[in-house]
Amino acid sequence: MNLHRIATLALIAIAATGSSAAAQLRVVATTPDLASLAREIGGNVVNVTALAKPTEDPHYVDAKPSHIVTLNRADVLIEGGAELELGWLPPLLESSRNARIAAGARGRIVASTGVRMLEIPTSFDRSKGDVHSLGNPHFLADPVSVKIVARRISDHLAQVDPRLAASYKANLVRFNARIDAKMAEWQRQLAPFRNAKIVTYHKDFVYFANRFNLEIVETLEPKPGIAPSPAHLAKVIGTMKAENARVILVQPYQNRRTAETVARQAGAVVLDMPQQPGARPNTGTYFDMMDYLVTTLAAGLRGQK
Ligand SMILES: [Zn+2]
Repeated sequence: MNLHRIATLALIAIAATGSSAAAQLRVVATTPDLASLAREIGGNVVNVTALAKPTEDPHYVDAKPSHIVTLNRADVLIEGGAELELGWLPPLLESSRNARIAAGARGRIVASTGVRMLEIPTSFDRSKGDVHSLGNPHFLADPVSVKIVARRISDHLAQVDPRLAASYKANLVRFNARIDAKMAEWQRQLAPFRNAKIVTYHKDFVYFANRFNLEIVETLEPKPGIAPSPAHLAKVIGTMKAENARVILVQPYQNRRTAETVARQAGAVVLDMPQQPGARPNTGTYFDMMDYLVTTLAAGLRGQK
C-alpha cells in the first residue's frame, strides 16, 4: 500500500474513534522483544503494543494504517535505534503527528543509547545495501545489553508517569536479579560448547555469540541485507567443511530453503532460532525466548537435532 493511502486511512480511523482519556500508559514498541521488556518494567499498569509481528524482519516491517493509529495514541515509543527501523518507522511517525513520542521527547526511548555497539563500520556506504551502517543493532540477544535497555525504559517511564516511578524502579531491580540468575544458568548450558563454530543467515547473533563464547565463521548473506549469491554460498560451504561448523541458525523470515541446501552440502543442520518472543510456542517473554534459544542451540551443537 502506498504511504499516502496509509496515512489517509489512518487519519480517518483516528477521527472516527476520537481520543478518550486513558487510565493506562500506552507504550508502543517497534518489535516484540522490546515490548516484552516494556511489560517486565511497566508491569500490569501499562498497556504495551508491538508494531512488528514476531515473525517479521525488524529491518523490513510491513507498514499498515493501524500502525499510524497506534503511534498517534502512544504515550511512549520504544525503538531499537541504530537505524534498525530506518526503512519503515520514520514515515509512520511523521503521519502519526504525536509530539509525546517525537525525537528527544521523554516519551521516546531509543534502546541503543548507552549500549556498547559492535561492528561499527569504519567507512560509510549505504549504496552497498548494508543495513547495519551505524553498527550491529541486534544487541537484545545479549542479556547484559538488555539490562542497559531495561534501565533506560524504567527511567523514561518514571519521567512520563512520575506517580508510579517507585514501581518502575522496583520492577527494574527484580528484572535485573532475574537476568543475573538466568545468565548463570544459560552460561552453564552453553559452557560445553565454548568456541564452537556456527553459521548464521544474517548478522543477527553477533552479540549472542560474543556473550556465550561462540565463533561465527560465516553468514549466508554476504553483507547484512544483501541476498546470498551462489558464489558466496559456495565459499560458505567451503569454510563450514574446513572449520567443521555444524549448525546454521535461521529466523522465521529468512530463507530456510537456502539454509537447508547449504547445510546438506556442508554436513550441517539448520536450527530455528527466532530472536523475537512469540515466534515459537511458549516463548512469549524475553526469558522464555532466551531459554528456547539456549536449549535449541545446545541440543544442535550436541548433535541431538
Ligand atoms: Zn540486521
